[in-house]
Amino acid sequence: MALKLYNTLTRKVEPFAPRDPGKVTMYTCGPTVYARAHIGNFRTFLVSDLLRRYLAYSGYDVNWVMNLTDIDDKTIKGANAEGISLREFTDRFIKSFHDDRKTIGILDANLYPRATEHIPEMVKMVEDLIEAKHAYVTDGSAYFKIDSFPTYGQLARLNMEELRVGERVASDEYEKEDVRDFALWKNWEEVDGPVGWETSLGKGRPGWHLECSAMSLKYLGKGFDIHLGGVDLIFPHHQNEIAQTEGVTHEPLARYWVHSEHLLVDGQKMSKSLGNFYTVTDLIEKGWKPREIRYGLLSGHYRQRTNFQASGLDSIKQALARFEACAVNLEHSAGQGGMSELKDTIAQREQEFRDAFDDDLNYPEALAAIFNFVRDANTLCQDKKIGKPEQELAMETMRRFDSVLGYLDLQQETADPESAEIESLIEARNEARKSKNWSEADRARDALTERGIIIEDRAGKTVWRRK
Ligand code: AMP
Ligand code: ZN
Repeated sequence: MALKLYNTLTRKVEPFAPRDPGKVTMYTCGPTVYARAHIGNFRTFLVSDLLRRYLAYSGYDVNWVMNLTDIDDKTIKGANAEGISLREFTDRFIKSFHDDRKTIGILDANLYPRATEHIPEMVKMVEDLIEAKHAYVTDGSAYFKIDSFPTYGQLARLNMEELRVGERVASDEYEKEDVRDFALWKNWEEVDGPVGWETSLGKGRPGWHLECSAMSLKYLGKGFDIHLGGVDLIFPHHQNEIAQTEGVTHEPLARYWVHSEHLLVDGQKMSKSLGNFYTVTDLIEKGWKPREIRYGLLSGHYRQRTNFQASGLDSIKQALARFEACAVNLEHSAGQGGMSELKDTIAQREQEFRDAFDDDLNYPEALAAIFNFVRDANTLCQDKKIGKPEQELAMETMRRFDSVLGYLDLQQETADPESAEIESLIEARNEARKSKNWSEADRARDALTERGIIIEDRAGKTVWRRK
């Protein structure tokens, strides 16, 4: 089987074929940086991370772009309320976004373009849309004329005949009842304070939807492969992105639209007033480890609502302990050999793993395949069938699974302030061992022990943790 994905555009599970063979281009709508991102946002970003990891595992060369919405109604309001510049205000939340995503093992995207650094591209797009008669200017603001775009509403399955289409909407976010010509460029107003750009369109600032159209087109080109985001973005955000981009390119914006369902917390929508609103750091403070957060947030199929339960930590710990215990078992196994049985097990379980992910990223099934492998590997250890070569092959398999799951590498509690120093001592030790300089290797190891660091060598990789 090869990868199939549910495409919101067609409402069907479709075989995945990239625009350019062997290469995948994907774009995820990133955070609006007006507050620290919450675990619901991270659930959505984790789905992109999982897909990106699985595509890389499958041999694709992935180019993943995630934008940073550092200008919209909310960021302007926040910066002006504090009386600081938009840049200073959003820098703070961009930093916390990167800190948190690294904590839970979301790999680096290839690029994190900021909207404020793409104003000329956006102005050009508005000018092209005006030229093509898809947009018009009124009172210094530019609006997209939705009845100029015959397929408007297709992604969101809007019935344009039934909807009472109003005249214009200026705000970045609105409901289906408010289907109207939407703002591409907004004329500067008093409430914007110091925020605004002098451009050929006049002094103003871009609408939220325009940002993603300009940046995805610039970095991934026409008809790129996969566009991702949470389900709430289907309308109006993604619908509007399609109208804007396709209004100038006359080609589909993206080939596959992948939307993840929302995260519920303790069965409810997250909200500050219910006291169930968490950020990654909140959970760390409550004693969750990074890998436990990752596990909890990834659970379930991406197209189903996931219920994150603060009380679910014990069962998450148990599941992860099974994974970890298997790695330790393999490491300490001193069996007589059973290569053919191990190879059979790997072939079977890895096939199950691939079949699951190929089936529209069925993570729960893939996890079941891994736990089957864990059970088989433990039995082989018990039966003394794991010797040195088997150990290496089995660990290599675990690592391959983990290149998609991302749990084994999340050893540390949080980004350790001394991690750079620790890593360089480990490297010094490994280098010394390679050149058989045992006294130097011992010295580096002692320095680590003094700092309370335990290291273990696993399948060619040294992992560390604090005592
Ligand atoms: P925002 O920072 O508001 O632009 O949202 C960033 C991403 O998080 C978007 O893709 C949203 O769809 C997604 N998102 C917002 N709330 C949730 C939630 N409760 N569960 C899952 N994803 C969410
Ligand atoms: Zn977007």
